[in-house]
Amino acid sequence: MIIILKKSATKEDAERLMAIIAEHGLKPLYMPGSERTVLGALGDERVLATLSLEAHPFVDRVLPILSPYKRASRELQTHDSVVMVGKVPIGPGHFTVIAGPCAVESEEQILESARLVKARGAHILRGGAYKPRTSPYSFQGLEDEGLKYLAAASKETGLPVVTEITDVHDIEKVAACADMFQVGARNMQNFRLLKELGRAGKPVLLKRGMAATYNDLLMSAEYILNEGNADIVLCERGIRTFETGTRNTLDLNAVPYLKERTHLPVIVDPSHGTGVRDMVLPMAKAATAAGADGLIVEVHPHPDQALSDGQQSLFPDQFAKLMEQVARVAALEGRSLA
Ligand code: PEP
Ligand code: MN
Repeated sequence: MIIILKKSATKEDAERLMAIIAEHGLKPLYMPGSERTVLGALGDERVLATLSLEAHPFVDRVLPILSPYKRASRELQTHDSVVMVGKVPIGPGHFTVIAGPCAVESEEQILESARLVKARGAHILRGGAYKPRTSPYSFQGLEDEGLKYLAAASKETGLPVVTEITDVHDIEKVAACADMFQVGARNMQNFRLLKELGRAGKPVLLKRGMAATYNDLLMSAEYILNEGNADIVLCERGIRTFETGTRNTLDLNAVPYLKERTHLPVIVDPSHGTGVRDMVLPMAKAATAAGADGLIVEVHPHPDQALSDGQQSLFPDQFAKLMEQVARVAALEGRSLA
């Protein structure tokens, strides 16, 4: 529930109320504002019902949080969140592009990729060291060695790095080399992993599962938020439908739907969303026009030789064209790629 304090309430008054909330075994939240302070109480709904704070002298109003994803919802926080990845912001006023290969394949390949996406204006480098593949016979990633190469590419270019985490046991290793954890579609409901990432002290890029509803995605974000990590970026990456012409169906409805209900930034992955190189540019522009806060795009120095997802990876020139055209669409929405 949301507890709106009276204007006259002091910080000490708020602390006293928070202590009462905590005594009930609930999680208190403190949200000071320029006009007045708002408190939150989260936890078991039956206990919340017994917490009668309405009559308290410092309390103005008590409102229930109706949505099931309490912390992710705009009921609790109306303004947009900005998530910092290294020194790069994702959120209002900006349009952030994450680019790089599907997988880290060698030290040279990730370095070349980092240089080329940086030269064309990307803000963050992507590249998977641990690759969750449909077939156990496909390239599984360079794993720990890949992490080292990513860190080296980040160091040389100054680009922050996002890379996928597939196992709770790898959190420390990944955190040491990357600026942001990526939770892939296949792990969106790996709740143990989400909880641990809520305590890992780094931002999380949470990709929508291929059969997950918007509500499922927001509830997964809630797992991370509930452990104290508010630095979450949601990602629409396409879902499974009856359509077989493309790898996935990029559901751009997700962008306005999610942005209406959550303060968390929302980005779009037109590479996995289509699976087709030539469809990435038009869908990247559509995602930008739909109000996304950024994109994650697969780019490879030699897509024809890529060890994974080559068919959807952009050639360097195609990425340059995407950056130019997306910048124009973003500018129409008052956002800059700088
Ligand atoms: C990826 O980003 O390379 C990836 C595996 O993405 P997803 O989890 O969306 O399939
Ligand atoms: Mn991929």
